[in-house]
Amino acid sequence: MTSFLRNQPWHPTTLLWVLALWLSTAGNLPLWLAVWQLPETQGLKALTTLGSLMLILLSMVCGLLLLLVWPKWLKTVGLVFMAMAAASSYFMLAYRVVIDPSMIANVVQTDVREVRDLLSWSMLGALFLGLVLPGMWWWRQPVQQLPVKALLLRQLGLLVLAWALVFVFVWASFQDLASLMRNHTQLRYMANPFNSVYAVTRLFVRQASKVVKPLWPIGEDAKLLAMPASALEAPLIVLVVGETVRAANFGLSGYARQTTPALQKLKAQGDLVYFSNVSSCGTSTQTSLPCMFSHLGKTAFENTDQPYEGLLDVLQRAGLAVLWMDNQSGCKGICNRVAKWETQALKVPELCQDGECLDEIMLQELPKRLALLDPLKRAKGTVVVMHQMGSHGPAYYKRSPQAIKQFMPECQSSALQNCPAEQIVNAYDNSVLYADHFVAQTVQWLEAQTRPTALMYVSDHGESLGEKGLYLHGMPYRLAPREQTHVPMLAWLSKPMQQQRGWRMACVQGQAEKPWSHDNLFHTMLDLSQVSTALAKPALNIFAACAPGR
Ligand SMILES: [Zn+2]
Repeated sequence: MTSFLRNQPWHPTTLLWVLALWLSTAGNLPLWLAVWQLPETQGLKALTTLGSLMLILLSMVCGLLLLLVWPKWLKTVGLVFMAMAAASSYFMLAYRVVIDPSMIANVVQTDVREVRDLLSWSMLGALFLGLVLPGMWWWRQPVQQLPVKALLLRQLGLLVLAWALVFVFVWASFQDLASLMRNHTQLRYMANPFNSVYAVTRLFVRQASKVVKPLWPIGEDAKLLAMPASALEAPLIVLVVGETVRAANFGLSGYARQTTPALQKLKAQGDLVYFSNVSSCGTSTQTSLPCMFSHLGKTAFENTDQPYEGLLDVLQRAGLAVLWMDNQSGCKGICNRVAKWETQALKVPELCQDGECLDEIMLQELPKRLALLDPLKRAKGTVVVMHQMGSHGPAYYKRSPQAIKQFMPECQSSALQNCPAEQIVNAYDNSVLYADHFVAQTVQWLEAQTRPTALMYVSDHGESLGEKGLYLHGMPYRLAPREQTHVPMLAWLSKPMQQQRGWRMACVQGQAEKPWSHDNLFHTMLDLSQVSTALAKPALNIFAACAPGR
């Protein structure tokens, strides 16, 4: 304490303990609040549980810092750890997310638009209290210059001591803690800075091994089942990848509010089928998108670090023209070898503002972009993917134009927890209304074409709108609530398409309530595009039961 008063230089190891104390107390506020509120920790029990967890964490943080922090790096590494703890604490408190590798991947892959959406006064306040204030104090502390050898011995000795203490504390409270950690797995993802250190390391190792391994081609036998007799018979298929739309708020799934009036009308005409029981592969764009376009399916996809080509490569190899249109933060690698078009730099006054466009920009641009594709390939057929901005949060109110909005008032803040629940839902539902408008407009455009056309729509993952205190998405899958994994999916088939394939809509309608998932997209799209390959698994193809002759 004398160092506070007399401004004498700190012994580096003492300053390191101060950092550890800060990180394991203030730097873990969300964790301690969560433990305090657990049903099984009440009264005295809460105090003893908190006490033993804090001692364990303090010793673990010391153990980590003693390993990483040497006098030369002390100040810088200290700031980095403070920044990680402040940022992850803010997101854990504000949105109840936890920090795991896929959450870090989201952070790494974010863009200016997403960061701008997240900025709020409460975030700046949290950074001020958690980083700027303690960081300034930290940076200004004088540190003693000591002989390297003495310091090394002392730090190694303390390292052994810190981990011995971890062992003793864990041993002493093992029974309580083991069941606590088993019953509340989310706590493991809440311990700063270990959650971030683990997630960053894990992500880095995985990405590095993917970079080292060459891309594995798939579907090298892919070919078209039938060659169109003329350009008039070449199919045009649009796959709309929805963003952050959950089935719970999708009018077609029976939501109390009619958020999909235009699609409802199309369904009543008999050419549209809504699939009501569809699960996503992941709980974020980063995890779902590559998985949806993979031939592997969720389980195998998650367990491999071998990079494979995806659906679009197979379609292109079979001879089709393939186009990726992106109104979001990119295709996460799956469109790398096909034609792509992005909206980020566009300045179309009626649809774009502040570097962000409404999804209709893709429909407006579609005819022009189709005309630019290779005519020889187009004569065989075309597949277009439209990657929507959809209901991307937390600024839901930005995701629908004024003319579409029906549910008012809307939450106009990115700090969702400061808004009344119904205003968050209003803003979100308006974004679903806009998705309904966009998809229905696209169907109408396709219907006006004389060739066989079809549209598939599926959302990449769902969203939490405050249920159980959770916001946004990206929870580890096994902890994620259904709101984050139950997604809307639909198929619309034009009359010429139904005739060409010999599909009866009554049969397709018969598939509507079966439990499907993103695993089915690859195989269903192959069939819809009439591509044959040994990779195709009829059991996973939604339309398989409706093939003529069955
Ligand atoms: Zn997404």
